[in-house]
Amino acid sequence: MKLQSIKGMNDIVPPDSTTWQRAQSLLQAVLAAYGYREIRLPIMEHTGVFERSIGDVTDIVQKEMYTFADRNGDSLTLRPEGTAGCVRAALQNGLLQQARKLWYVGPMFRHERPQKGRYRQFHQIGVEAFGLPGPDIDAELIMMTARMWTELELPGLRLELNTLGTLASRHHYRDVLREYFRAHRDALDDDSVNRLERNPMRILDSKNPAMKDLIAQAPALDAHLDDESRRHFDQLCAILDHAGIAFEVNPHLVRGLDYYSNTVFEWITNDLGAQGTVCAGGRYDGLVELLGGKPTPAIGCAMGLERLIELARERLERAADPDADVYVIVTDERYIADAFGLAESVRDAQPAWRVLCHCGGGSMKSQMKKADRSGAQAALIIGDDEYREGTVTLKPLRADSQQQTIARASAITALQGVMH
Ligand code: ATP
Ligand code: MG
Repeated sequence: MKLQSIKGMNDIVPPDSTTWQRAQSLLQAVLAAYGYREIRLPIMEHTGVFERSIGDVTDIVQKEMYTFADRNGDSLTLRPEGTAGCVRAALQNGLLQQARKLWYVGPMFRHERPQKGRYRQFHQIGVEAFGLPGPDIDAELIMMTARMWTELELPGLRLELNTLGTLASRHHYRDVLREYFRAHRDALDDDSVNRLERNPMRILDSKNPAMKDLIAQAPALDAHLDDESRRHFDQLCAILDHAGIAFEVNPHLVRGLDYYSNTVFEWITNDLGAQGTVCAGGRYDGLVELLGGKPTPAIGCAMGLERLIELARERLERAADPDADVYVIVTDERYIADAFGLAESVRDAQPAWRVLCHCGGGSMKSQMKKADRSGAQAALIIGDDEYREGTVTLKPLRADSQQQTIARASAITALQGVMH
């Protein structure tokens, strides 16, 4: 049997990997511009980290986690999301003494049915802001994501916003919802029955089309909000209005995880079919305490890179870099050491240029073909004469100018003349 990758876990190969690098560097530049710093986290945690924070009647914990016994019997889980591990790490490293703005990037693992836009290993950039209770940071986080979409040239994203209220108003609403869904028990699917007693709000998150009408008729949280929650939400909306960021309030947006309170939001596109959410987040003021820390307000979001890159592909590829700027060729294998020396001196002088030295021999014609395909602006050729005389022939590959044979010392200046 041929060895194959695990279903739903994909390789990212060149030139796609360049597209990914470009997307990440655009997004990271925006994060830096808002004062977020990177935190690097393990991709595995003790299972309890996720069970405790995500909540045990969620899809993730019940059906999607890659959990297995370590050799010593500990239960470990490949992270299905980043927030739980980030909070664990922030606590363990004493980062929460002051307000913190953190981000991370990397693979997440969920055992879902693979399809376009839904994989078993996928990638997120996650953003978390700790220690800030107000709607100001909520608004700034959302404004930052809006800037990211501008950078990626994604005009078609729509922002949905909701508030789940404080814990107290959430609890009250939970009871109201439970009553409602109990009264319609016959119309519930298995998942929803399962959630009815323990977490009826989760039913609102159902993606089952057969549940849609029942959910649409459900009482909205709005009527059960306390004043503090309402004020928080109104201020958030006012700042977004002022910033010119359009949003819709979706009273049934609850998000899949247990740890959210107050603000929740999603950025959604209609261009990716059912897998339309590209970024999702919210406030989770209770989580730090739940994982053993002092009560610490927090808000965060995570964006799915596969979905974002799919949407921004054209823009990212338009700007994608070629493999090389300069391609060095020899007409005889005996000259290769000389060519390496020349390539090194070009790299010394111009560290930002990508200098490819042809390896593997072959005819002049085939080497020139490779040079062309590399996207390089110019080829540097060492033939018999050049080798003997210590010169080099510069052949522009994109510009209209003539090839010229020059002294090695003039190579950089001559190359600068044909680069753009
Ligand atoms: P969905 O509603 O699509 O299942 P979710 O609510 O489970 O998403 P989150 O846990 O909030 O997703 O993760 C944030 C983002 O990560 C999603 O909006 C999406 O862009 C991306 N994402 C989540 N699961 C996957 C997956 N299996 N494959 C690819 N991207 C994913
Ligand atoms: Mg999901």
